[in-house]
Amino acid sequence: MDYFEKYPIGNCCVCSQGWVVIVKEISIPKYFVYCNECETEWAHPEDFILRQKSSRFKYEDFSEPNDKEVIDIGWYKYIDQTMLQ
Ligand SMILES: [Zn+2]
Repeated sequence: MDYFEKYPIGNCCVCSQGWVVIVKEISIPKYFVYCNECETEWAHPEDFILRQKSSRFKYEDFSEPNDKEVIDIGWYKYIDQTMLQ
């Protein structure tokens, strides 16, 4: 599994170790966020921010989206730019 870190939206509230990043389920495609350490998933960045229901291993193969995709789905604003410096 690749270690995704291109689009972080925050530090994981479950494991306190990983970054929660924007990823894309390849087959559909469907976007969600997940922790690159403990692999906890949230269906939407707001779900992570508001500590809503999470899942694990619910999604099929996924990869990192590109800038255009992140902008198109309106999730670019969730990226924590301070984590990328
Ligand atoms: Zn985690």
